[in-house]
Amino acid sequence: MINTVLGEIPESKLGVCSSHEHVFIDMRGCVEITGGEPPVFYSKMDAEKRAEIYDDPYAVLDNALLDEEDKAIFELKYFKAHGGDTLIDCTSDEIGRDVNKLKRVSLESGVNIIVGCGHYYAKAHFAYVKDASVETLAEEMRTDILKGIAGTDIKAGIIGEIGTSAVIGDGERKVLTAAGIVGAETGKAIHVHTDLYTENGFEVVKILTAEGVKPQKICIDHVDVLLRPDYIRGLLDLGVYVEFDNFGKEFYINEKRRFAYDLERIRLLKRLIDEGYKKRILVCNDICLKSMWVSYGGQGYAHILRTVKNMATENGIEEKTYGEILTDNVREFIK
Ligand SMILES: [Zn+2]
Repeated sequence: MINTVLGEIPESKLGVCSSHEHVFIDMRGCVEITGGEPPVFYSKMDAEKRAEIYDDPYAVLDNALLDEEDKAIFELKYFKAHGGDTLIDCTSDEIGRDVNKLKRVSLESGVNIIVGCGHYYAKAHFAYVKDASVETLAEEMRTDILKGIAGTDIKAGIIGEIGTSAVIGDGERKVLTAAGIVGAETGKAIHVHTDLYTENGFEVVKILTAEGVKPQKICIDHVDVLLRPDYIRGLLDLGVYVEFDNFGKEFYINEKRRFAYDLERIRLLKRLIDEGYKKRILVCNDICLKSMWVSYGGQGYAHILRTVKNMATENGIEEKTYGEILTDNVREFIK
């Protein structure tokens, strides 16, 4: 059985899943602010600001906030209308997890929502994380999984996304260790945000497996920003999942910090499938920006069910195979 915001559901009811999204999120605290920002940075995000965000998703601070319930219901209904059944919301407490809101939008839209627990990367951490013991951090996750989140009876269905920075800090290491302990105890899957431009996935896997977590319960997120086939293969050879979770994010910040394009991601995905890695790859959008919502002119949670799916089949990935990635792979990971 799988914990969702509306209670337990059997694995057979998961259907078509997005393995990592955010329905509500507040990333504003993680945005670097120098003080010299132009007025547009402090303006409200709307369609006219889209041009601003192609070379920097945080050129408008408000783009980093998803909190509108009515729009979220619309977005989830849009996902459902395109064949989506379930999404995993990886938002941690410190970046806006709100299980009561998630419960309402799940009820209204008919989309199953699975929520996570644990802490994001250091910049977002609550102040107490710095001095908290591994056991305290583990106990929080245990409570969220076994008893309920924030005094509700809504239980976390996964651990994560646990955050790590370019250099994995002491606080992050404690959180990862705690996630490893609770992951090993409960058998819950663990999503880990790794820095986009490093190869920290190896270190993360080492820390988690040292606590007894099975590789097939670990997913290294964001491997599709900078496409490094050998890094990805190296992780896959350890038996962990890797997640292509930036579909819809094609930002060109500069040559060093560019995001791969969706078509490049699909072409690499096809190669990895041909090499026999199909069962350990997850595909999603990791929506965390207003500009990604349909209501703001974006492609929405259904992007992987529309354009990306077409891209996959046009580039030689069988529709059946693509479908299995969105169903069987997610189910196997979280069950
Ligand atoms: Zn995420």
